[in-house]
This record gives sequence, C-alpha cells and structure tokens, in this order.
Amino acid sequence: MHELALADSVVKAALSAADEAGMDRISRIVVKVGELQQIERDLFEFSLTTVVPAQDSRLADVVFDVTDEPVLFRCRPCGASYDRDAANIDSAGDEGEAVHFIPELSHAFARCPSCASPDFDIVAGRGITLRSVEGTGDDEPE
Ligand SMILES: [Zn+2]
Repeated sequence: MHELALADSVVKAALSAADEAGMDRISRIVVKVGELQQIERDLFEFSLTTVVPAQDSRLADVVFDVTDEPVLFRCRPCGASYDRDAANIDSAGDEGEAVHFIPELSHAFARCPSCASPDFDIVAGRGITLRSVEGTGDDEPE
C-alpha cells in the first residue's frame, strides 16, 4: 500500500530527527503533502497513526499535523514564480477537468502569467515533506 509506505518513511524520518535532536518525547510531527502528490489523504493520515511503533514510548502522545502544500511553478525563461491559480489553467473546459482529476497533467496546461511560456520547474507541491518534529528532551527551550 502506497500510503502506508509513505507514512512509514515519515515516521522513520521523524524518529531519526528526534534522535539527532536528543528528544526523548515527540509531541508533534508536521507533514506537508504536496498538491501534486497522488495520495489518498485520509488513508495516509490513518496510516501515520498505525505505523507508529507501539514499543517506542517517545511517540506515545504524538500528534500528526498534516497540511497541504500548494503547487508553485517557476518560469525558466523569466524566473517568475506563480501558483496554480495564476498558471492560466483553463478550469472551465476539458483541460480543467483533467487537471482536477490528474494533477500531474497540470504540467501540460500551465503557462507563465508574465511571459506565457509553458517551460517551468515545479518548486513546491510535489511529494511529502517532513517539516518539523517537536518534542521535549532536547536542548532548545520550548
Ligand atoms: Zn515567464
């Protein structure tokens, strides 16, 4: 299961981050899910709670904070950054429907609002990012 594997990676990454910070208790794990990430969101959040190792007491009271990361494009020719709303994606016609159901297709339809170039990099909104791990036992004041 895709979501379960992703959740497992997130929890392992959080645990190693906690190790590095010397935390003995993790209270909150913040995860960003990119808009273009193909994921069953409810299943992912459920998976996060199920992959928490029962034997690891550091995670006994952990709260997962899962938020969306909107897609952000950067135009290669002119360097302008723009989001999905500014990308001139036709949301009324067939293209909009395709983008809605198959987010990766936004590649094919996005245009720079400044110079109308279709040549861009995706600088945010892909994949799953572990944003922060909060807990106690580290040296930093809360
Ligand atoms: Zn441009």
